Amino acid sequence: MSSEGPPSGAEARERPGPGLLLVLSAPSGAGKTTLAHRFRAAHPDALFSVSATTRAPRGAEQDGVDYHFVSAARFAELVAQGAFAEWAEVHGQRYGTLRATVDGALRAGRIALFDIDVQGGEQIEAAWPLDTVTVLVLTPTVAELERRLRGRSTDSEAAIRRRLDAARAEVARGLATYDYVVVNDDLDAAHARLHAIARHERSLRGAPADLADSAAAARCRRGEADTGDWASPR
Ligand code: ADP
Ligand code: 5GP
Repeated sequence: MSSEGPPSGAEARERPGPGLLLVLSAPSGAGKTTLAHRFRAAHPDALFSVSATTRAPRGAEQDGVDYHFVSAARFAELVAQGAFAEWAEVHGQRYGTLRATVDGALRAGRIALFDIDVQGGEQIEAAWPLDTVTVLVLTPTVAELERRLRGRSTDSEAAIRRRLDAARAEVARGLATYDYVVVNDDLDAAHARLHAIARHERSLRGAPADLADSAAAARCRRGEADTGDWASPR
């Protein structure tokens, strides 16, 4: 959380503001992490919201970078202190967004990127309606998600089925409540869409407007984007 706190010196002078809470949600495997890193690299003023979680680190994950890894007791303490902007239990583990991250990003006029589930994104939007933009990231088709999941995991057939069912439920909810849908067919194209959304939303909050960005963002509005077979019932 090194980027929190009020801006000072050069940071304050250069800050491009206004701050934006950019929530990215997606079914696991849709490419949200890849997209978020690409966005962060292209926007030096963007920061990742590092959630706290009770789950154990996986692979090369680092404490304070990927998550703040905490015990169940510490998580409960943070809940009692009101430290979370929202928190949830996902797959039997707890995950929470720190209020300090939200406040720090808004004070500093920065874009905060959130990698959280749809109900968490809905809570952030309800709490900071003027500052939040929610984006659902999708594969072009359900079959493409299945292909990416099979490509990267050693999960059993039953586990893959469970993930796909969970993905369908998560996407159905996001398609009903989120502001934008970014289809991650091609990574460069998906990044361009996300970039346009961020610039358009900042222009609504006082930054200079760009007609091309606003037109590109409009094509990603919920209900406008082509959501393939995600929208159709099974
Ligand atoms: P998530 O964070 O949503 O679980 P990841 O970013 O880990 O997803 O991406 C899942 C897999 O899909 C990775 O192997 C990644 O390289 C791949 N991927 C991401 N975007 C694309 C894309 N546009 N086309 C094909 N593969 C992609
Ligand atoms: P993972 O354990 O794979 O990193 O994350 C599992 C799920 O928890 C993902 O859908 C991720 O978006 C979600 N998640 C991670 N952090 C938070 C958080 O702070 N709040 C909420 N609501 N969900 C989170």
